[in-house]
Amino acid sequence: MALIVQKYGGTSVANVERIRAVAERVAKFKMLGHQVVVVLSAMSGETNRLIALAKDIQARPDPRELDMLVSTGEQVTISLLAMALKDLGLKAKSYTGGQVRILTDNAFTKARILSIDEGNMRRDLDSGHVIVVAGFQGVDAAGNITTLGRGGSDTSGVALAAALKADECQIYTDVDGVYTTDPRIVPEARKLDTITFEEMLEMASLGSKVLQIRSVEFAGKYKVKLRVLSSFEEEGKETPGTLITVEEDKTMEQPIISGIAFNRDEAKLTVLGVPDRPGVASQILGPIAEANIDVDMIIQNVGHDGTTDFSFTVNRGEYGRALKILEEQIKPHIGARAIEGDNKICKVSAVGVGMRSHPGVASMMFRSLAEEGINIQMISTSEIKISVVVDEKYLELAVRVLHQAFGLDKAPA
Ligand code: ADP
Ligand code: ASP
Ligand code: MG
Repeated sequence: MALIVQKYGGTSVANVERIRAVAERVAKFKMLGHQVVVVLSAMSGETNRLIALAKDIQARPDPRELDMLVSTGEQVTISLLAMALKDLGLKAKSYTGGQVRILTDNAFTKARILSIDEGNMRRDLDSGHVIVVAGFQGVDAAGNITTLGRGGSDTSGVALAAALKADECQIYTDVDGVYTTDPRIVPEARKLDTITFEEMLEMASLGSKVLQIRSVEFAGKYKVKLRVLSSFEEEGKETPGTLITVEEDKTMEQPIISGIAFNRDEAKLTVLGVPDRPGVASQILGPIAEANIDVDMIIQNVGHDGTTDFSFTVNRGEYGRALKILEEQIKPHIGARAIEGDNKICKVSAVGVGMRSHPGVASMMFRSLAEEGINIQMISTSEIKISVVVDEKYLELAVRVLHQAFGLDKAPA
């Protein structure tokens, strides 16, 4: 007998038929003698719908009230699934995050889980219930409902698996595993049987939304056995999906690059003609940080005339605010010549632990993009990834070209 946590995303619970299909899969695991905790997202599109409603009322919705609102999406699906399970003759009980007592900090809309009380769940599991928990939500110490950021149900699933010391955390979604890149952009993308935590962390942080980055961090930290699989496969035709592994598979020749990630959600800002003196970077980025805007890539070019150009990228949603701060506070304060912005850029990244032992990945990447006439605006590297910023109109081309250049469409020898 094993304890399994199964998380189902929005498309997997999109309507009554899909919810019944989830109930049937859960029932199968129960029949095999396992204990099952299910974590659900809202029906697909529901969270977006609720956010749009909020924005119709308030351009920048109050964070506490927004969390109160968007957390309702998950309450719909957990209660419906509990009913569907009962309809199949199983004992089942739905729980909101607060009812479990998933305690978070009070950073509304991007709260972090601090602790999980497993007592109630454990009692119900031991008396034969399937536990159905609302993903994406928790409560802070004062009892306010909080949410964990978009895609946060993945993190709820992994955190519950860690708290309950589950044997496996299964993330059911609309693709049958983690691919070499988003199969919706590159049909030739290949499913990976395994991927290391390190690589999955990079892929997630660089835009592959198949897993929320915090879920991967959690799984790595608490050694949760994490697997991504499809909820759409027919009975008897299920495949094992992708296992996220701690160890590199030493028995196989490692590919140099494991995947290509991309993120459209980026914008670039440039401060032109800044006097080149100590403290300039902090004078520019200080006010940006104070406004709680995360900065991703940064480059500074020193000119010959004693001035420099300073560029950085931010989340596209913060573009307007960042531009305003640069124009109104920073430009007059540091005596910059001009401010430029571009919110039609994207970031494309190649990720692979094999990069460590293979020089020449960067040059190969740059050459492949150049051959297609794609101009690189910014570059950043780490030990296992290379990212470039390019014009958004080249996103799909760049991803396809790199996917092919690194031989990702061919099965490893
Ligand atoms: P869910 O609603 O189940 O949480 P998401 O839409 O959040 O599903 O994540 C699944 C989607 O992630 C897939 O439909 C796919 O388009 C996208 N995706 C992006 N990169 C990858 C990748 N490397 N492998 C698999 N899917 C990916
Ligand atoms: N429903 C939330 C979202 O759409 C959480 C999730 O699906 O993981 O972001
Ligand atoms: Mg998701």
